[in-house]
Amino acid sequence: MSMTTARRSQRRAAPTATPTSASGWLRDAIGATAMLTMLVVVALWVHGRGLQDLGGLWTGVTSAGRLAGLVSADLLLVQVLLMARVPWVERTYGQDRLARWHRLVGFTSFNLMLTHIVLITIGYAGTGHMDVVAQAWQLVTTYPGMLLATAGAAALVLVVVTSVRAARRRLRYESWHLLHLYAYLGVGLSLPHELWTGTEFVSSVLAQVYWWTAYGVAAGSVLAFRLALPAWRSLYHRLEVERVISEGAGVVSVYLRGRNLSRLPVRAGQFFLWRFLDGPGWSRGHPYSLSAAPWGDQLRITVKAAGDGSARLAALRPGTKVLIEGPYGQLVAARRRGRGVALLACGIGITPLRALLDELPPRQTVLLYRARSEADLIFRAELDRFAARRGIRVWYLLGSRPDGGSWLPAGYPSDRQVLHDTVPDIAHRDVYLCGPNDWMDLAASAARRAGVPDERIHLERFTW
Ligand SMILES: Cc1cc2nc3c(=O)[nH]c(=O)nc-3n(C[C@H](O)[C@H](O)[C@H](O)COP(=O)(O)OP(=O)(O)OC[C@H]3O[C@@H](n4cnc5c(N)ncnc54)[C@H](O)[C@@H]3O)c2cc1C
Repeated sequence: MSMTTARRSQRRAAPTATPTSASGWLRDAIGATAMLTMLVVVALWVHGRGLQDLGGLWTGVTSAGRLAGLVSADLLLVQVLLMARVPWVERTYGQDRLARWHRLVGFTSFNLMLTHIVLITIGYAGTGHMDVVAQAWQLVTTYPGMLLATAGAAALVLVVVTSVRAARRRLRYESWHLLHLYAYLGVGLSLPHELWTGTEFVSSVLAQVYWWTAYGVAAGSVLAFRLALPAWRSLYHRLEVERVISEGAGVVSVYLRGRNLSRLPVRAGQFFLWRFLDGPGWSRGHPYSLSAAPWGDQLRITVKAAGDGSARLAALRPGTKVLIEGPYGQLVAARRRGRGVALLACGIGITPLRALLDELPPRQTVLLYRARSEADLIFRAELDRFAARRGIRVWYLLGSRPDGGSWLPAGYPSDRQVLHDTVPDIAHRDVYLCGPNDWMDLAASAARRAGVPDERIHLERFTW
């Protein structure tokens, strides 16, 4: 282990970040609204004779199928909203958690959609004394909106199949992302059959008001926050590349300059999706965290070449125009519960933590930075150069990956010993983590074993 003391950065004005508990009331309000939509949907189903219909065998099967379909449609809209990048929702829950829920809600909604299709077909076949296959054919070919709904269901099947982990691992991010956009098509195509044949929809004004509002809010949020806001921010701030410098083998920092950046609501630790208008392929956005707190009208990102998209940044020319989507992410100083902080970084995961150093109270901050060798340390000179003035303690944990599952390099003493030597009061600190996925899992469980409660562990995953 080697240690240095970090100096105050001259880059950034004093942070507004103060210890705070997350906006609890907003979290409760958003959660309660999502639950309320479920209740409304069930109430509309009851209002549409859903309960009475359960009395008969085939009408009961059909009614249960209708309920499954309604809840599935509602969850589908919740799911769209979870990923609509609504700023208050992002700020309240953080992308990581939203992505996990998006996945969970997505699979639940999909299973309910399949249940809906099966039960409705069986219910109709039973009522009409028809063969199930013939009934399915008749439903698809003769009921209004059903051909579109079938195409929509097929689009959703495609999205779900490619989201199963095993399939996802085989796909490039860009291919997966493109296929994932079919979910919007799926949602859109399923709407007409609800409007034209859905018992609940056609029979009640209340239901119509509810569903139109729900679809309107979901579509409006996507248009506003995924398209209009990023477009406006890109046009307004007019970001462009100022210079690109090498930070070591395969790692570059891109300095960007823009207009009125003080109006961009971004904090150290957050990331944007970046599109550099440097030629073909510009339309594929990539997420990169800021590697320094914003200062004046400037931003900095630091990127390791992991594939085509990241490698091309080394060749960016000054003046290249840049489109941004964001800021996103919750790895911010304001998230902490107390004053003391331990930052645990590995490899390129140092970027958001380096930015956080500009905003955290220096004397309460310890950085543990894991890398294979001195040569792999990014920002070493920077950390050493402006280190001493701030009183931030920085520990470098250098060495190769151990055989067993440990976040420490090979040959190091136990977690307990290392944490005792470097951050003896870690149990009373907030812990911020960033690095490769497996490493983060190991480091987070070491922190938990050392007594850090879950709500004080904050992390950003560099994976999708
Ligand atoms: C929130 C977040 C912040 C990040 N911050 C940084 C940073 O500050 N510095 C840095 O060097 N890297 C960062 N990354 C990782 C960086 O986005 C990927 O390395 C980069 O997008 C790879 O693209 P590529 O075309 O070069 O590589 P590919 O050849 O396309 O892929 C290389 C690897 O990167 C993954 N990847 C590709 N595209 C994405 C994407 N859009 N989102 C997530 N993973 C992707 C692939 O699954 C693959 O494992 C961050 C990732 C996330 C999710």
